[in-house]
This record gives sequence, C-alpha cells and structure tokens, in this order.
Amino acid sequence: MSSNPFQYAPAPESRSIVDIAPSYGLFIDGEFVDGSGEPFKTVNPATEEVLTEVSTGTAADVDRAVAAARRAYTRVWGPMRPADRGKYLFRIARLLQERAREFAVLESLDNGKPIRESRDVDVPLAAAHFFYHAGWADKLDHAGLGPNPRALGVAGQVIPWNFPLLMLAWKVAPALATGNTVVLKPAETTPLTALLFAEICRQADLPPGVVNIVTGAGDTGRAVVEHGDVDKVAFTGSTEVGKSIARAVAGTRKKLTLELGGKAANIVFDDAPIDQAVEGIVQGIFFNQGHVCCAGSRLLVQESIHDELIASLQRRIGTLRVGDPLDKNTDIGAINSAEQLARIRELSDFGEAEGANRWQPTCELPERGFWFPPTVFTDVSPAHRIAREEVFGPVLSVLTFRTPDEAVAKANNTTYGLSAGIWTEKGSRILKIANQLRAGVVWANTFNKFDPTSPFGGYKQSGYGREGGRHGLAAYLKGADSK
Ligand code: NAD
Ligand code: MG
Repeated sequence: MSSNPFQYAPAPESRSIVDIAPSYGLFIDGEFVDGSGEPFKTVNPATEEVLTEVSTGTAADVDRAVAAARRAYTRVWGPMRPADRGKYLFRIARLLQERAREFAVLESLDNGKPIRESRDVDVPLAAAHFFYHAGWADKLDHAGLGPNPRALGVAGQVIPWNFPLLMLAWKVAPALATGNTVVLKPAETTPLTALLFAEICRQADLPPGVVNIVTGAGDTGRAVVEHGDVDKVAFTGSTEVGKSIARAVAGTRKKLTLELGGKAANIVFDDAPIDQAVEGIVQGIFFNQGHVCCAGSRLLVQESIHDELIASLQRRIGTLRVGDPLDKNTDIGAINSAEQLARIRELSDFGEAEGANRWQPTCELPERGFWFPPTVFTDVSPAHRIAREEVFGPVLSVLTFRTPDEAVAKANNTTYGLSAGIWTEKGSRILKIANQLRAGVVWANTFNKFDPTSPFGGYKQSGYGREGGRHGLAAYLKGADSK
C-alpha cells in the first residue's frame, strides 16, 4: 500500500506443496465417486484462475451418502467403544497438524484469505477442535448431560465459505465424538479443503461411511437438510437460508442448530487504552476480509474520544497490506467471490447515498481477482442499512454514544445477537455491560478470540443452539438441550 512508509519485500508461500487434481468426485462410503449432477468449477478469488472441477451431488447422490452414513452408524460407529472413537479423532487431529501447511495453502488458494490467517488460525483451530472432542469421546457420562447420553444417528451438515476447514471441524468433531455419523456439504466456492479432509479420513482408517462429503450448491444442501433419514441438521450460513431450513425441518423429528449472521457492536469507552482498542477494532472487522459472522462491524465510540480514536484507526489502517493471499506479509486478502464483492459494493454505495461518510486508505489493488479496500464509514445513524445489515466484508460502520445506557441500547438495537466487544479499563463496567448485551459471545478488551472449549452461538436472528464446549456436545445427543 503506497501510504505505508515501510515496504516489505514479497514473501510468498510456495503453492507447490499442494497437489490439486484436475477434477474431484464426492466422498461416499470411504470412496471418491462421480456425482450425477453437472460439475462446477472452483476459482482462486485472488486471480480468478480456475483451480479444478468438482462434482455436484444430486438428491440421488445424497441418498447414497445418507444410506452409507446410516449403515456406518448402525454397524460400526454407534456400537464402537467410545474410547476407540476417541482414538480415531486423535488420529485425525494429528494428521491435520502433520499436513497443516498443505491445508493452509489450499485454503488460501480456494478462499482468498491471507496465509498468515489460514496458517495461524484456521488450521490450528481445526486441529484443536478434533483434539478437544477426541478427549470428550469416552467421557460423555461426565459431561453433565445426563447418564449414558446417546447419539442421535446421522447428522446432515451444511457449511459456508468463510472458514471452510474450521467450520467443517466445528461440525464433524462434535458429531463424531458423540457417536453420530455425518453427511457434510461444503460451500460451492470453497470445497477443496473438505475434499482434502476426506483424504485424511482415509489416511486415519476411519471406517467407511462415518464421514461423507457431498459437494454442490444450494440444491445439494437442500437435499441433505430435507433427507428423511437424517436425524440432526446443523447449518452455518445466511439468515435467509437458515429460515428456510427452519421451515423445512419444523414438524419433523430432526434436531436443529442454526449459526447465522451477525452485526456485532464493538463498544469503546472513553477510558479504554486507545492503541489496544484500535488493534481490536482492526482485528474485529478486517480479520478474514470481514467475512466473519461475529465481525465487529458496528463500532460504538464514546463521543468524547471519537475524533482521536478515528484518527488513530485511520493511521493504523493505512499500514495494512492488501494483496496476494499467499504472501506471508499480507493482512487483507481477496473477497471470496464476485457475488460477495457485488454485495459489499452495493451496501457501501447505499451507505454513501444515505448520508454516511466513506473513508478508504490510498490502496493499490491487484488488477485481476476480487478486491475491496478496508473501509470506514463515519456519521452513521442507526437507521442506515450499513448499520443494520450484515455487509460480510471489510466495512466498518461507526456510531457514537454518550452514556453506558445509550451504548447498551444501541448495541442491542439489531435483529442479530451473535457477539459483542467492550473496551474499558474498568472491570466492573465490563461485567455490568456484558450482562446487558443480548449476544452469545461478549469479548472484553479483545475480539475474535476462538477456543474449542468455549460455546459459540447466537440470540435472535443469529440462530440457536451452541457449538463448542460442553454445550456443543448436547446438540448431538438425545434428550440433552443445547440452549
Ligand atoms: P448461504 O446461506 O447461501 O450459503 C451457506 C451454505 O448453505 C452453502 O453451503 C450453500 O450452498 C448452502 N445453501 C444455500 N441454499 C441452501 C438451501 N436452501 N438449503 C440448504 N443449504 C443451502 O450463504 P452465502 O450465499 O454463501 O452468503 C450470503 C450471506 O450469508 C453473506 O453475505 C453473509 O451475510 C451470510 N453468511 C454468514 C455466515 C456465517 O458464518 N454466519 C457465513 C457465510 C455467509
Ligand atoms: Mg474457490
């Protein structure tokens, strides 16, 4: 970025560690098989280069996958000693670590996220989720979820493109640890790490049918969710699709968890350490290009420090490096798809049209690929679309408040309720405000911190059920309530 006085020499990670085949099938019953639908292409969003062609699973393919999962559940995985299930999960976790660099490069190629994040966040956290749940496999009696908790059966799982491998881990690890088998559908723009995970399942000698991966778009997802022999549905993605899934599942015996959108408030009080808060704001909204359901997309600043904070924030944003996701110096990578880029542009244009003030650093963007500079809107009012709707991109909306009560009222003035942040030096204020916020996760003097031991999930239109921690186990067990 030209405003940056320190220019870094490029430090590209080599892509030669990954071996992308010209085409991929579905992973059903331990084998790669052709899908019956029209294959689709997945691209590298940083270059628009086609990476490979992937099978589309039809309803008939999903049916085969569910049948394989049912057989594996009834004959092998369900009856297996819990400690043995744990051994498989430990093995998967170790294999993810051994092949971490390969997963990180592949994730950055298919998704556009910086290698620094896929290497240091996505892949280690995915392995951590398998390690954590491996430990639970033979201790479910002691999870406080009742005596002898029982698996549900076959789980149908649909995940988005923002954290492809990590969302897979959030879904697959707890399902397997609790004795369920799975049919998982990755997002259509980012199927490749799930297919590499299928290879890990084979390497780990996981019994065929325990994990099945069916690629495709929304129709394939619908076939998974609506399949009559699925006992549990777990979905992460947009609120709109989440609502349609809730309707489809209503009245069936299926258990459902929904992890949907968010519009988190990141609240900065006048006694907060400004430099730390600035780092937290940057981390909150520009991590993963802002493609984060719990992103701190609404900055609420106490009025008395507004100008000072915004000036610091702009200085800091001026040092962010936008560009090649495989460069180890890159802070902000590519927007995941042309469609998502169009949505970010549209909402940002609305922001300006509705009277907010757009600021972007001077920033040279690559010519090919999908890019959007880090963006800050000031003078945003709560009624503006950019204050209400999830942009799911590197766009921050700044609002102000005068009193703690006003901060809480504005923070809760949203149809969502996934996460929130509080920046203040006062511990008592953190506890008081956190109790008043209607959000599943509240971070204090930090943001976007994830850990497999900590439950994650939403209020209101952000969804229901929890993933992670002891609460997350309940979502995959009979009788246990995850809420
Ligand atoms: P989406 O909800 O359309 O897609 C998520 C997953 O659901 C994908 O695998 C998709 O193929 C599948 N799907 C689509 N229609 C389906 C249906 N009817 N039944 C079953 N599965 C279906 O999300 P998107 O189009 O990728 O993104 C749109 C918006 O969603 C974003 O702008 C953002 O606001 C939000 N989003 C939220 C999250 C999150 O983590 N909460 C993640 C991605 C996107
Ligand atoms: Mg892709």
